[in-house]
Amino acid sequence: MTIVSSSCRICNNSELDEITYLCDSPPANNFDHTFKGQNNYQSFPLILDFCKKCFNLQLRHCLGEDLLYSNYTYITPKSDSLNKHYANLLEYAQNKILNLAESDVIEIGSNSGDLLKYFKPKVSSVLGIDPASNVAKIANNEGIETINEFFGNSLAPVILSKRDNIKLVIARHMFAHNSDPSDMIYGMKKIINDDGYIFIENAYAIDTLMHGEFDQIYHEHMFFYSVKSMISLLSNHNLYLHDIIFSDVHGGSVVFVASSKDMGQTKILKKQIEIEDSLFDEKKIFKLFLDKINEVKLFVSNEINKSKQQNLVIGSYGAPAKAFTMFSFLKLDQQTISFCVDTSVTKIGKKFPIFNIPIISENELQEKNYDVLLVNAWNYKKDILAKSSRIFKKGTKLIFPLPQPECIEL
Ligand SMILES: [Zn+2]
Repeated sequence: MTIVSSSCRICNNSELDEITYLCDSPPANNFDHTFKGQNNYQSFPLILDFCKKCFNLQLRHCLGEDLLYSNYTYITPKSDSLNKHYANLLEYAQNKILNLAESDVIEIGSNSGDLLKYFKPKVSSVLGIDPASNVAKIANNEGIETINEFFGNSLAPVILSKRDNIKLVIARHMFAHNSDPSDMIYGMKKIINDDGYIFIENAYAIDTLMHGEFDQIYHEHMFFYSVKSMISLLSNHNLYLHDIIFSDVHGGSVVFVASSKDMGQTKILKKQIEIEDSLFDEKKIFKLFLDKINEVKLFVSNEINKSKQQNLVIGSYGAPAKAFTMFSFLKLDQQTISFCVDTSVTKIGKKFPIFNIPIISENELQEKNYDVLLVNAWNYKKDILAKSSRIFKKGTKLIFPLPQPECIEL
């Protein structure tokens, strides 16, 4: 089911400003393993709308779970930087929340339970909630009790029957993925204590826009949260934004720290509100965003057209969700991009739907004849360049669309 909203899904304002119609694109992360071609897959418009009233940025089309997650497999990667981030969040919570040690901690979208493993020895109990049965099973097997359900207001009584002293609810990188954030906030408000806190971690809309990261716009990302829009969402449910924490994980994230009681606004939060006020003034930030998108489009299209004229073989590197938007936006398919290299075993051997670009491993790349690679996984630029001499042929031209459009010849 697809919901098309002409009004704001946070405040119901019916007068939204269209920021951009990027392109039509199929749901990201759903790879074709049937090889039946284009018939089974559909594209939907990626249109970004802005609400002047509450500063909400949303996709006009929200696809249903059946479309988004039918062939979906995502397990939180394990990495040192994530482990450090989990430890930091625990330390922050211990400093901020009185008697955290005696309280229950809930994580929504807890995946395989990695974060809750940090909290478990330091608090009274932990409880995870995740709709994906495969990851919920992993968590339960590893001793992190996990309810295998979608979280919303209707699940609150179930949680309260299991835990009754909840001082902290955490939701990491899932808030943009739900078409009804108000229902989730309402449910959170119901389960936390009067002195409880909520940590909502997400990509930061201001960074996404300022960096021109248009490929972060895909169907799973239905909302792009700023401090201002988060305050609007929370205040509808008598919750208060108290603090923000910036971190490097997932290419730059923000943790919104909300509280049941009004704990005031921290210095860093107040400063960020001022910055946002000036960026949203006369929609300055959207102009910067659209200029950057055009710059990237011109640069990459030009490089690809030049390579085609010289009969060079063009491939691409990385098959993350944002590659769907990159291919759709630049209208690239197998006619132009012969293959896409990825390291994930869940993707190798499959094809991008619609574009029909096959995904191959780094080993298979060694046997290929190619000259140019468009790097979709540009956020790993440093790592890719560090291992480039090992995985790529000498003389290969790498096209990085972002953070700055540039070509690097190896
Ligand atoms: Zn609104």
